[in-house]
Amino acid sequence: MSRLSVEARFGQAVNSVTARSHDAGKFLLDVRSCDHDQPIRMRNQRMMLPQHGISCMNYTVDLERAAQEHRNNEMLAPENIIVSPSYWLWRPELRTGTDIQIKFRLPEGVQVSVPWQKLAGDGPVYRLSKSPENAFAPAVFGSFDYHEIDVPGATLRVTLLNGVQEMDNESILQWVRATATDVSLAYGRFPNPSPQVVVIPVGDGRINDRSAVPFGRVIRDGGETVELQVDQSQPLEALLSDWTATHEFSHLMLPYVERKHRWISEGFAQYYQNVLLARSGAYDDLYAWQKIYDGYERGRASRPELSPNEATAGGMRAGLMKVYWSGAAIALMADVRLRERSGGTESLDDILDKFQACCLPSDRVWSGPELFAQFDELASAPVFMPLYRRFADTAGFPDTSELFERLGLSVSDGRIRIRSSAELRAIRKSILETNDAAASWREQLAANQ
Ligand SMILES: [Zn+2]
Repeated sequence: MSRLSVEARFGQAVNSVTARSHDAGKFLLDVRSCDHDQPIRMRNQRMMLPQHGISCMNYTVDLERAAQEHRNNEMLAPENIIVSPSYWLWRPELRTGTDIQIKFRLPEGVQVSVPWQKLAGDGPVYRLSKSPENAFAPAVFGSFDYHEIDVPGATLRVTLLNGVQEMDNESILQWVRATATDVSLAYGRFPNPSPQVVVIPVGDGRINDRSAVPFGRVIRDGGETVELQVDQSQPLEALLSDWTATHEFSHLMLPYVERKHRWISEGFAQYYQNVLLARSGAYDDLYAWQKIYDGYERGRASRPELSPNEATAGGMRAGLMKVYWSGAAIALMADVRLRERSGGTESLDDILDKFQACCLPSDRVWSGPELFAQFDELASAPVFMPLYRRFADTAGFPDTSELFERLGLSVSDGRIRIRSSAELRAIRKSILETNDAAASWREQLAANQ
């Protein structure tokens, strides 16, 4: 695939189309209105459409050049290219309720993977609808391994790109399935019914000691994409004990939260990655509590003069660990409070369950207070906004020491010890309670390789 020709038809005349990337104009080879087969002029990389609008246009994009400039990955086999629609999709502004259907005609042997919702019927036809657009989603063209994996509540659309080094696709699929299933242990189903998952091999065949999954991220751009970069030379066991995928999948339990309140989305993902890995049997309880405690301590040490909101506004250098862990402390506080108040009939899982039912996947950006207010609506009494008001603009780090004591988690020399008798012992146990089916499946996976 080196070029892409697009024919765009509009329901009514449009006089403005844009691509999300300001660079997109560089890759346009030819743009014409098909109403009168008139060329469309470009100025400053923008299409100059006639005032009265057009109802149809054709253009060609130098896909290969766009891919080279923006997603050059030397570890990818040459038959795959990744190039975001932000570089090749010119469209009117998307509003809530309007959508765009996109149908691909592909050469023999070429597949496509996009984040958009796939429509039933023949061939690759998708619906693009409004979304937060927090980054540029990948579109993959080429010859790759595509699988639809069923987990509770969802079918993951998994694209495994080919690397220059050999990889064991079966193991990688098992790992994706296991980690996505872990996330369903929060409330019985995966939060998005049909996300795109893109696995990019980044191992270069050299032995190294870096993690099995060096990078992952969630992209909300026309749909939800989880991108996972994997060192494919590492065994399934190493993948299964890596937390990156669980963290990224956990992000999907919340909508996209405004950048200035990013400590909420990162914190909830940090909390849940540890909780879920314990429930699935990957971590034992002591190890999970130790990880949570260590994270809180790193958060506490990080720029103590700043509040969570200030640390987030200051960018990552201002207090990365505060951004990653202060929300995790609040998640634990909220979880325990909900369980304690209800005698165990309400928990953070239940609130997120209801939140998924009412509000996910969401087509818009949420502010932190708006999200917490919504959680409080769903809870039997407010828990989240009181915590927000107490901590979001307060310098330092939420103090969890008393809570740890009550949960029966004692600390000496930085090491956690679990006490068998404690006021909130039952709550401590129920937070990390192992799901036996998930645990025995993980055990089998690790044993069978
Ligand atoms: Zn994250």
